[in-house]
Amino acid sequence: MAFIKINKEKFFHNLSQFTLKTGSKESIAIVLKDNAYGHGLELMAKLSQEFGLTQAVVRTYDEAQIIKPYFEHILVLGDKAIIDDSCSFTLNSLEDIEKAEKGSKVELKVDTGMHRNGIAIDEIEEAVKCIKEKKLRLVGLMTHNRSADELSSELFWQQKNFKKAVGSVTLNKNIRIHSFNSATSLRLPCNQQDIIRLGLGAYGYSELPTIYNTLELKPVLSLWAKKVATRQLKKGQRVGYGGTFIAPRDMTVSTYDLGYGDGWMRSNSFEPFVTAEGLPLLGRVSMDYVILESTKDEVCIFNDALSAGKQLGTISYEIITQLHGDIKRVII
Ligand SMILES: *Cc1c(COP(=O)(O)O)cnc(C)c1O
Repeated sequence: MAFIKINKEKFFHNLSQFTLKTGSKESIAIVLKDNAYGHGLELMAKLSQEFGLTQAVVRTYDEAQIIKPYFEHILVLGDKAIIDDSCSFTLNSLEDIEKAEKGSKVELKVDTGMHRNGIAIDEIEEAVKCIKEKKLRLVGLMTHNRSADELSSELFWQQKNFKKAVGSVTLNKNIRIHSFNSATSLRLPCNQQDIIRLGLGAYGYSELPTIYNTLELKPVLSLWAKKVATRQLKKGQRVGYGGTFIAPRDMTVSTYDLGYGDGWMRSNSFEPFVTAEGLPLLGRVSMDYVILESTKDEVCIFNDALSAGKQLGTISYEIITQLHGDIKRVII
């Protein structure tokens, strides 16, 4: 089966770069949602711990339970708040406050302009009151930026709104305030932040315009496929479903064990995807196979999700998160 290589040195390099910006490892909360952006949840949790990180962010409580042994504290973004001393839960709405278990640790998300999740700024006072009444333990105030990775001033008015929101309520001193994802952390100084919620950047990518490439990031993941069979094609013979590739000359091709069933995009593009080693995929991607003009036992499909995403008309996030959890991940 296809497999994934996780380059530990590059992961540590990226984390070191962000540590230089934040000033400490404790202020980096590594985002491990969606199977650690396709890299492997538990494996990346272990590596994060080895590097010295103490904080993580996930989507579900199930994910939090898998990685609990590796962190001091985990923020859960999208699950009901329950009592668990090692976790805090995001409150995305007033209804979330209603649903939360009495005594649970919570962080209030403020909607500062993205209008996806969070409590409106003029509802904060009410929310804080409800939190007190329900005897929840408020440990954080947070927001998320809608355009941090775009060349515009949007980030700045959102940050301003957040400041206003934070200022509008009297908060306990030990409540942490956070709003930085990777893109924001690349654009703004981070040394004043309680924590940054670091996702994509840790895995080695930035979707920002290149003028914001303030750190040197290295892609951690590469996707590999193994040879299944080799055959000779005569000029004019066609390959794969629909026979869309026609051999322009006699050639030697091999089938490799990766397909859309593994989370590799079939894609409708008329331009064939070109692998990291410069080989175009011949014909259509099958559920479990692709065909290349190669006889190598193992081929690297991609080692940079940013450029792979550009080829396939999507973003790096989608390329990596859709890689199936059952593909073997090996640390190199
Ligand atoms: C996914 C997510 C992040 C991480 O974003 P990156 O762009 O990958 O750094 C941070 N905060 C929240 C709320 C998220 O959902």
